[in-house]
Amino acid sequence: MTPAAGAPPTTPAWTGSRRLLRQLRDIMAGPGSGQERLDQIATLIARELVAEVCSIYVRRAGDVLELFATEGLRPDAVRNTRLMVGEGLIGFVAGKAMPISLADAQSHPQFAYRPETGEESYSSLVGVPVLRAGRVLGVLAVQNQTQRSYTDEEVETLETTAMVLAELISGGDILDADEPRYDSANELLPQRIEGLALSSGMASGTAVVQRRRVTIETMLADDPTIEERRLRDALAAIHGQLDDALERPEFSDASEHRDVLETFRMFAEDRGWLRRIDEAIRSGLSAEAAVQRVQDEMRARMGQVTDSYLRERMLDFEELTERLLRQLVDGGRPDGMVIPDDAVLVARTLGPAELLNYVPGSLRAVVLEEGSTNAHATIVARALGIPLVGRLQGLMSRVESGDSVLVDGDNGIIYLRPGDEVQANFETAVAAQGARLKVYQGLRDLPSETRDGVPVSLFLNAGLLADTTRLDETRSDGIGLYRTEIPFMLRATYPDVATQTEFYARVYDEAGGRPVTFRTLDIGGDKALPYLQSNFEENPAMGWRASRIALDRPVMLRHQLRALIAASAGRPLDVMFPMIAQVSEFEAARHLLYIELDRAARRGETKPATVRTGVMLEVPALALQLDNLLPLIDFLSIGSNDLLQFLFAFDRGNPRLEGRYDTLSPALLKLLERIAEDCDAVGVDLTVCGEMAGDPIAAMALIGIGYRRLSMAPANFGPVKAMVRSMSVAELTNYLQGVMHSPHPSIRSRLLDFARDHNVSM
Ligand code: PEP
Ligand code: MG
Repeated sequence: MTPAAGAPPTTPAWTGSRRLLRQLRDIMAGPGSGQERLDQIATLIARELVAEVCSIYVRRAGDVLELFATEGLRPDAVRNTRLMVGEGLIGFVAGKAMPISLADAQSHPQFAYRPETGEESYSSLVGVPVLRAGRVLGVLAVQNQTQRSYTDEEVETLETTAMVLAELISGGDILDADEPRYDSANELLPQRIEGLALSSGMASGTAVVQRRRVTIETMLADDPTIEERRLRDALAAIHGQLDDALERPEFSDASEHRDVLETFRMFAEDRGWLRRIDEAIRSGLSAEAAVQRVQDEMRARMGQVTDSYLRERMLDFEELTERLLRQLVDGGRPDGMVIPDDAVLVARTLGPAELLNYVPGSLRAVVLEEGSTNAHATIVARALGIPLVGRLQGLMSRVESGDSVLVDGDNGIIYLRPGDEVQANFETAVAAQGARLKVYQGLRDLPSETRDGVPVSLFLNAGLLADTTRLDETRSDGIGLYRTEIPFMLRATYPDVATQTEFYARVYDEAGGRPVTFRTLDIGGDKALPYLQSNFEENPAMGWRASRIALDRPVMLRHQLRALIAASAGRPLDVMFPMIAQVSEFEAARHLLYIELDRAARRGETKPATVRTGVMLEVPALALQLDNLLPLIDFLSIGSNDLLQFLFAFDRGNPRLEGRYDTLSPALLKLLERIAEDCDAVGVDLTVCGEMAGDPIAAMALIGIGYRRLSMAPANFGPVKAMVRSMSVAELTNYLQGVMHSPHPSIRSRLLDFARDHNVSM
């Protein structure tokens, strides 16, 4: 895998004139104002590229691109011609943060003609963004009268020049220092920002802003050999640091954290990434400028990438770049950040290994401008119980170290510099939460049983070893859903049968005799594996995923089943297949299990004490095949997250559809009620293991329509148990009869009324 996967192929190394770089350096080091330097650079580039026009646009407040210097366009257009980001070809380059090169620019749909510039006679155009720290500061463009096709080398020359321009523009000589930043937010006022809840919990503390601290002073270098050596030395130092970290006792066993570090270590050897840095060095940049340039390109591209897997891998490179720059510029000295006791780490993104740098217990919470559900850092934060909110727009420009921050990791909201009232409300909420936790702890040893004596079994969803430690804490009945893909996602390479066996055996051991339902790999969709790169899919959630992959790649599933059988070592084995859409798929998957059981028997290995097979019901079509399916299976588990998305044909990851379809819609509830009746009739165990089971009001509805087994994230266990113990099935069933046939899209408010009127804990 290379960082450029899914992106246009990289251009060959620029072997063009080092003379140009020397001239650029002379301009930067020479006398004159910032404006004079811009003018000189425009003249130089026009001459070197044999172009009639070279123009430099600078981004100003309000997303405006203003012509600041030109060679070739009318001089009075300077400081007069303005385009919005996104407007015209120049705005297009800025908006996309990508270069364009067009032999016939005027026929491009984005072309916008500005009469004051006199540019009507120019046919071809190449424009590159001026980037710094992933932000577009301007655009550098060259035009010719003939329909000229610019070479890759010429585009690279412009990109290198754009780096120098980025230094110049951000140096403060071009724009007035008091010009508001284009991302200006009123920085000192209290702010509430909504983002994405990634790891639950509430915390308050002091912001520790992790910014890029490294300032690159030497952009250009004379001798690429020296720079290449500096790069190799810095890389060797980083490899050494990672190897040392892997030696640390806490990473010594087969822990997930070790997998994270090993994966990260593998990225540090990525050949595509290193090749691009080498190319940039050979174009005349210093080693640090080359690292920075490759990262800027990647970051600019990241804005365009929607594939969550690629975005997450780019975060790996972001962290590596940070380390490498620090190593190159100041020998890897730690940045001297003093961590207060109540630190809330604020960063744009967080690399996979960074969280592991902090001493356990020293972080109250983490808030990120980026961040995503399946990123390594997110998974690690969840495992460590650190609240994490991501996707907070404009975060980095709104917060300074030392600001107070309130983090609501349950609802994905943060408050910056809160006023007294917000602070007091938050503290009350935290205190109430603390009190509730105490109440939940007090319920630990009491049965999970409704007021009218109906037992409801409560299980945990797990995926990390850390989750399994919550079994004792919650006294839950077992693991209702073990997502086996999570340990796979944390690793650099496909785990062989022995590694998998060791891992599953540890899960069994941690479960200490409580049942564990192992779900076979549910990969694909948004859960990609580093070593099983699938091709681009139009609709990944409905694409080649989970059991569909497993049946097309039976060896992978067989290895997993072999490892599960071996790990069970005479204990009961419950295997669940995800994303089954038709009975024959279950039969095919189960057939592979039988083959593996036979194999184990032939080899005289210890058999599992019992073997039970089941399926996830996530595809609505399966609900219409229960008559054929139920006689074949031992248990069924409702994946309500996917079931809702497929039932209503809505993408569960699309923020525009957020809140439009509810799990408490009569449509879903009626379907679930029928499934419960069918399972009850033939005695097949039925569980709900989607998020719905962990939402107390939805869990209450499920019990009302006949469900007696719920599996949820550990954090939801207490609230659901308290709800179970305070409800009466008889009262609710009665009430539901009246509301289940409601024509409204959701009966949530009606159920909340019921809960309030009947003192059901929510
Ligand atoms: C579900 O779809 O409800 C489910 C439990 O599976 P996942 O969330 O892992 O897709
Ligand atoms: Mg699912």
